[in-house]
Amino acid sequence: MTYVYPVVSRRAGGVSVGINLNPNNACNWRCIYCQVPDLKRGGPPPIDLNRLANELRDLLNWLYVGDYLDRHVPPEARRVVDIAFSGNGEPTSAAEFPQAVELVGRVLDELVLPAPPRLRLITNGSLLDRAAVRHGIALLGQRDGEVWFKVDAAGATAMRRINGVGYQPATVLRRLETCGKLCPTWVQTCVFALDGQAPDEAAQGAFVELIGMAAGHLAGVHLYGLARPSMQPEAARLKALPQNWLENLARRIDKETGLTVRVSP
Ligand code: SF4
Repeated sequence: MTYVYPVVSRRAGGVSVGINLNPNNACNWRCIYCQVPDLKRGGPPPIDLNRLANELRDLLNWLYVGDYLDRHVPPEARRVVDIAFSGNGEPTSAAEFPQAVELVGRVLDELVLPAPPRLRLITNGSLLDRAAVRHGIALLGQRDGEVWFKVDAAGATAMRRINGVGYQPATVLRRLETCGKLCPTWVQTCVFALDGQAPDEAAQGAFVELIGMAAGHLAGVHLYGLARPSMQPEAARLKALPQNWLENLARRIDKETGLTVRVSP
């Protein structure tokens, strides 16, 4: 399949149906922990929406009616937890993103599943200033969907080191607030040691301050470690942090912002 794939998701606790709107492995960011092989900068080619719909119908039939779960999924994860726009690049960079959200909703309506999976968008949030992207996210909100919005560091310099792009905190804050008003939004944050150094006190403080300013528009924060190896040239410079490091940061975020924090080391 070109656009649709099943994955047993540690973070989501079951099978996640991924929708990949970036089959050319192109993203507008270049995160040093990114798991996409042959990642390049750029956007996706035009999306064939008919093909996407057919692939999604086929995969959902295989999951709900066929034997995919029995044959390929461990017993504890035999459930479909979500349909996630989460591919090999930034999903909202596809011009057809809002149409793709509509289409996924239509396919779900047609199939009348016993427990329809939740729709999710995994995004770096950088294109929230586009009306079409806001429209797509509003459609997700109307369907009780959820956004996971990547914020790995606060401040242009710190961001550039990790994500290959740098925005001022005020810009990220504006986009987070916009997103949170359209659809329930979780911040997702990848935490790791770079060149043997965990994020220092100043980096942690700036991050918690930024999240705290957006807290009124957020559902929570998801801290996660290096689940799978980076496919980028910096891979050897990254190291997973111990679980208690992540849990300490989670407690601090909870204490200073009042937000729910989930940890996946
Ligand atoms: S935003 Fe996502 S797809 Fe893009 S480079 Fe970062 S981790 Fe990879």
